[in-house]
This record gives sequence, C-alpha cells and structure tokens, in this order.
Amino acid sequence: MPIDIQKVRADFPILSHTVYKRPLIYFDNAATTQKPLQVIKAISDYYENDNCNIHRGVHYLSMKATEAFEEARKEIREFINAPSTHEVVFTKGASESLNLVAASFGKKFLKPGDEVVTTIMEHHSNFVPWQIICEEKGAVLRVANILADGDLDTRHLYSLISEKTKIIALTHVSNVLGTINPLKEIIAHAHRMGVPVLVDGAQGVAHAKVDVSDLDCDFYCFSGHKMYGPMGIGVLYGKEKWLEELPPYQSGGEMVKDVRIERTTFNELPFKFEAGTPNVEGVTGLRAAVQYLKNIGMEEISLYEDRLLKRAVEGLSSISDMRFYGTAPEKASLVSFLIGDIHPFDAGTIIDKMGIAVRTGHHCAQPLIDHFGIPGTVRASFAFYNTADEIDRLTEAVSRVKRMFA
Ligand code: PMP
Repeated sequence: MPIDIQKVRADFPILSHTVYKRPLIYFDNAATTQKPLQVIKAISDYYENDNCNIHRGVHYLSMKATEAFEEARKEIREFINAPSTHEVVFTKGASESLNLVAASFGKKFLKPGDEVVTTIMEHHSNFVPWQIICEEKGAVLRVANILADGDLDTRHLYSLISEKTKIIALTHVSNVLGTINPLKEIIAHAHRMGVPVLVDGAQGVAHAKVDVSDLDCDFYCFSGHKMYGPMGIGVLYGKEKWLEELPPYQSGGEMVKDVRIERTTFNELPFKFEAGTPNVEGVTGLRAAVQYLKNIGMEEISLYEDRLLKRAVEGLSSISDMRFYGTAPEKASLVSFLIGDIHPFDAGTIIDKMGIAVRTGHHCAQPLIDHFGIPGTVRASFAFYNTADEIDRLTEAVSRVKRMFA
C-alpha cells in the first residue's frame, strides 16, 4: 500500500513543531531520524511495566524483561534475515559494532604485512578503527577510490585484493554521496578470493530491505537511531563461524560462563559479545521501530524516498552554479552540494533560519572531503515522512541563499 503521508506524519510529534516561527522541515535524517510515537511509547511502557535487569533473575519481572529482550532479538534477526539469533549481537551503535570487529578480528587475524581493504567513502567509524588496529599490528590499510560520479571504483577495489588481504570493510551506502555500493557483486568477488567482507550498514538499513543471507556478507553493522529507533542501541550481525572465532571485545558480567581465579571461560553467542547490563530500553524501542518499518513496508519506503530524491535533484539542478557531490545511478535519498563558492556553513546557517534542518561540514568522512578538495558540503537527507512540498521549500531556500550572495 502506498504511504499515507498524513497518517505517517501524525506518528512523529516533532514534525509538527515550528522553528523560527516556521514549520520545521527536517532533512538531517542521515544524522539521526525522528522517532514515531510507537517507539516513544514502547520505551515508556517498558519503564512503567517491565523494567528489570535481565538474564540473571528468577523472579517474575526479570523473566518478563528477558523474554521481551530475546523476542526483540528474534524480530531483528527476521528483519535482516540472519540465519540465527546467535548471530545478532546488541551493541550501542554502528560505531561500537565496527570497533568490535576491527579490534577482535585484528587481534586474532592480523599480523605484520597483512592488509585490510577499505574505501575512500567510509565514515570515520569504519576507517579509524581499521587504521588503529593496522598500526598496532603492523598491517597496511589499502583504500579504494571512487569514480567522478561518486560510484565506487570497483576495478580499483579488486586490484587491491591479494593474498595479503585479510578483510574488506566497506559501507553499504555513503553518508555523503548517497552511493549504494554493489555489495552482492563485491562480496561474491571477495569470497572467490577467500576474503571476508564487513559491511557498514548505518545508512543502508532504513532505506531498503536488507537481507544478510542473500548478501552473504560476513558482518553487517547498524544503529537504531538512524532507523527510527532510540539512540544508544545498535546491532552487529556476524556469521556464526566468525563470531565463534573472534575473541571477546569487552569483558565483565554476562559474557562469561565460568570465572575462576586461574581462568575464565566465555559465554555462548551472542552473549560473549554483550558484556554488562544491556540497553534493554534501547532494544525495546528498536523492536518497536522494526515493527513500524515492517508495517509501512521497506519497498514502499524505497519507492517513496526515490521520488523525493528525484524531485530534489530536479529542483536543485534548475539553480545555476550548483555543484553536486554524488550522482551515481544507484543512490539513496540524500543530496550533497555546494552553491557556487558559498561556504557550506554559511549556506546551512541561512537555510536553518528558514526552518530547514540540513547538515553541513565533512560529515565524519574527511578523507572523502579531502579527495574533493572542498571544505565540506551541505547535505539534505530525506525520510519517508518528508513531503514533496518540503523538497520544493528546500529548492526555494537554496535559490534564496544564492540570491543573497550574488
Ligand atoms: N557509518 C555511517 C555510514 C554513518 O553514516 C554513521 C553515522 N553518521 C556511522 C557509521 C556511525 O553511526 P553511529 O554514530 O550511530 O555509531
């Protein structure tokens, strides 16, 4: 069923706010999405009715909270079509998931002279952890380029893979360019070379159906807050064979089986990677977000957001001197641009005064911004609760900025 935009917008209380006496237009969805009442209510319901520490108690409340927590894990397994709940690890976000894999994989498998392959379009969260572990282990980080339109240069990527390559770490969708990487093709190629692939799905999971079994990726990481769920919760999907092999990332309660003065044995998956009291509130909210997305339908969301993107590109392209960053044919619903030589901070500040929230700067992807030799971009990123009218208001706002600086 097509998206009923009025009904959807009524679910997001913040969207009816005004800023500077104008209706808020929220185009910073790639940074974080807004939350529907269903998510907000699930969190307050949890604290009103079920709050308890989990996995350790034999009493009623603890068992109830544990059951809800593990039911959420099942729902998230199904959402990304992971083969098993053992492969769904809760973390505090994509960054923590990525740090976990870099640190644990690096500790176990990297040695001097080995190589890790990544791309120039990575968010710092999928770049710096690899840089740190490579430096620690004497390994080398190799970085694949992009083409002029912001597509990944897969030929360059493939040329970097050799018998020295231990893992490829790349993003599903670029948070600056919107480029959707051809994951299936890359993963199949890497596997033929015997190399596992980690996918940073922070910008992928909210915009189209993700099927980790079909992708055959070895790891897939994402954050709840970019998919209409709460902050402070995220997921690491990892194939069981890898998660079994990786050493624990953090230690403490929950992740252990048996602790003696002499030695400790670790808990089974996924608990081996979930040290300490988990974010039960976050998991509860994430579950509500997944249910919300399922109700709307990921295909409907993709179709709707594609239309918003098309309208934005058409509108903004009608303004002269626009410089777009990221025009790949396979692209998620965001536009990154500069208006002539106007500094992105100046443009963003004026656009904000018109009630439109856009992001400006390097978007935590400095190597990519350096590659373009620019100070940053203005980024407008869309969600299924945005409207065509809001997109037109952005085009008007950008025209106005241009006139002001003329
Ligand atoms: N990867 C990408 C592509 C992102 O866009 C982001 C967030 N901007 C992250 C990783 C990190 O996500 P988080 O801050 O939620 O950990």
